[in-house]
Amino acid sequence: MILDDEFAFNCTLCGNCCRWEAGGAVSDNLLSCADVIRMAAYLGLAPGAFAERYGCAVFDAALRLRVVKLKKLPDGSCALLQNGRCAAYPARPRTCALFPLVRGYSFSTDESGNVSIASEYFTHVPRAPAHICVGAKVWTVREWIAANGVPERDDADRIWFTKLWRCYEQANENKILAGDFYVQAFDDLYGHIF
Ligand code: SF4
Repeated sequence: MILDDEFAFNCTLCGNCCRWEAGGAVSDNLLSCADVIRMAAYLGLAPGAFAERYGCAVFDAALRLRVVKLKKLPDGSCALLQNGRCAAYPARPRTCALFPLVRGYSFSTDESGNVSIASEYFTHVPRAPAHICVGAKVWTVREWIAANGVPERDDADRIWFTKLWRCYEQANENKILAGDFYVQAFDDLYGHIF
């Protein structure tokens, strides 16, 4: 999907997109450095303290990198879901602001090795049982991202995703789990905030 394509969705404030076992697709997504800093500031925490309380550093086999994801509680819900609502909703991660859309990027690398985002595209997450909504409103992608504060998050995220792609390419060139490399890549991505 691109910006003028349409999809139907109606948020019923059920909170199920923040619970894994309900088919929520949001909470397993990685956090960008900007996500961590923005949410930490909203909650009045230092970024490191926020990451320790609400995030977890995991090795993502598909990315071949160590990244930070939202912490999952034993009941399957996001650690930020409190009384059925997000404790950091105005500062929520870009993946949560985009939901039920997922955004992907294609990257290009020039002859000098400089990476840039060539294009972006969107996918409407197939409806899990938790997301079946009656009388869903029709949105364009453009309307949805504007209504959910996505553009305000974009500049920092584009820089971060370009870094992520560079690390991903380097990880694939290395082909092996080189410990020092992953520490370096993690520091490059998260700016020593952990
Ligand atoms: S950060 Fe907030 S919106 Fe995102 S999954 Fe957690 S509780 Fe839900």
